[in-house]
Amino acid sequence: MKPQATILYIEDDKASQILIQRVLTHAGYHVLIADRALDGIDLAHKHRPDLILTDINLPDMSGREITVRLRSDPRLASVPIVAITSYSHTFERDKTFAAGVSGYITKPVDVSSLLKKIEEYLHGTQDKVNEDALTNAQQAYKYELVERLEANVRALEVSNRNLRRLDQIKEDFIQLTAHELRTPLTTVYGYSRLIQTSGPVRKLMEENEEAAACLGGLIDSIERLNVVISEIITVSRIASGRLDLKLGPTNLADVMDRALKGYAQVIAQRSLVVSFEPADWPPPFYADMALLELALSNILGNAIKYTPDGGTIKLRARVKDGRAHLSMQDSGIGIDPEDQKHIFERFYTAGDTQLHSTSKTAFRGGGLGLGLAICRGVVEAHGGKIWVESKGCDEKTMPGSIFHIELPLQTSMPITPPPRSSF
Ligand code: ADP
Repeated sequence: MKPQATILYIEDDKASQILIQRVLTHAGYHVLIADRALDGIDLAHKHRPDLILTDINLPDMSGREITVRLRSDPRLASVPIVAITSYSHTFERDKTFAAGVSGYITKPVDVSSLLKKIEEYLHGTQDKVNEDALTNAQQAYKYELVERLEANVRALEVSNRNLRRLDQIKEDFIQLTAHELRTPLTTVYGYSRLIQTSGPVRKLMEENEEAAACLGGLIDSIERLNVVISEIITVSRIASGRLDLKLGPTNLADVMDRALKGYAQVIAQRSLVVSFEPADWPPPFYADMALLELALSNILGNAIKYTPDGGTIKLRARVKDGRAHLSMQDSGIGIDPEDQKHIFERFYTAGDTQLHSTSKTAFRGGGLGLGLAICRGVVEAHGGKIWVESKGCDEKTMPGSIFHIELPLQTSMPITPPPRSSF
C-alpha cells in the first residue's frame, strides 16, 4: 500500500462520494473530491494525483472525455485513471477503455476488495481488454464524441440566440426608459429656463444670492441629467447597431472649434492652455457632424477633467495616408496601461470613483464611464479607429495622455453605408 498517495475522485453523487472518501481516507490516502468534470480536470492539473477515480456520467462532461483530456497532458499521461460506474454493459466498458482508462470498477462498489484494487492500480496494473473489442469500441467512441460535440454546438447556438434576444430586450428597455425620462425632463428644463428669464425672478436673483444659487444649481442638475440620459440613449443605440449616421460635408476644424467653445468658460477658469491651429487641419469630408462633435467634445472634456489647473492641451490634425489623423494631447494624470485596455468599454471608469459625482469639468471629476464608449462607437461607425497613448497614471509627474482618431477622408457621399460599430 502507498498510504501517502493522493487520489482524486470525480463524482457528482454525494452518497458515493462519502462512501469512497471514507474508505480511502481511513486507509491513509489523501483524497480530493470534485463534483464536476471541469473541476476534476483543474484539480488534476493543480495537484497531479497518483490515481484518478472517475464516474462516467457527470453533469458537464463524461468520465471518458475527462480521460481523453487528461491523457493529452504529458504530466498526467501515465497516471492511472479508473472508471467507477454503474454502467455494467460490456460495450460501455470497452468504450471506456478506448478512451484510455486503466481500470473499470462497477457500482455498487465492493468495499472489501476496493483497497486491494486501488493498491494494484497504483502499482501500474491495467485491466485486460480484448484487442478486437477495443478496436470496435474505439470506432464507436469516435462517433460518440462527434455526436456529443454536435449536440453541444447546437445547444450553444440556441443559448447564443437566447442571449442575443435578452440583450436586445435589455437595450430596448434602456432606450425606452431613457426616452420616457427625457420627455418630462425637457419640459422641466424649459420651464426652469422660463423662470430664470422672467423679470420678477431675475430681479429676485439679483437681490438674493441664495435664490440665485438655488436656481443655478437646479438648472445645472437638469442639464447634467439631460446629458446623462442622452449618453445612455447614444451608447445603447451603438450597442444595438442602431446608430444611423447623417452624413454631410464636415469640416473637422469647425467641429473641434465648436467643441472647444462649449468648454471656453472652464478652460479660462482653470487656466488651461489650449493650442489649436485650424489652418493646418484636413479639408472637409463626408461625416456625421453632430456625432463627431459629440465624440470630440467627450475627449476634450476628459482632457480638461484629467489635467490640473494651468496644464496644456494640444489639438492637432493632418492628412496621413489618405486619412484624417487627429490627436488630443493633455498634460494630465495619464492612464495606466491596464486601464488603457478597457477605457473604451461601456461603464468603465478608472481611478477614484468617489470623485465621479463631482462637476463634469472639475479636476478628476468623472462621469458614468460612457464618454469613450460613445467615441469609439461614433468613430468605428465612420469606418475609423480610436486609440490612446500614455506612459501610465501618475499624479506627481503628470505623464499626460494622447488620444488618436483616424477617419477615412470620404470626399463624396458613400453608396454603401460604412460598417456598423462592433461593440
Ligand atoms: P467618464 O465619463 O467617467 O470620464 P470615459 O469613458 O470618458 O468616462 O473615460 C473612462 C475613463 O478613462 C475615465 O474614468 C478616466 O479614468 C480615463 N480617462 C479618459 N480620458 C482620460 C485622460 N485624458 N486622462 C486620464 N484619464 C482619462
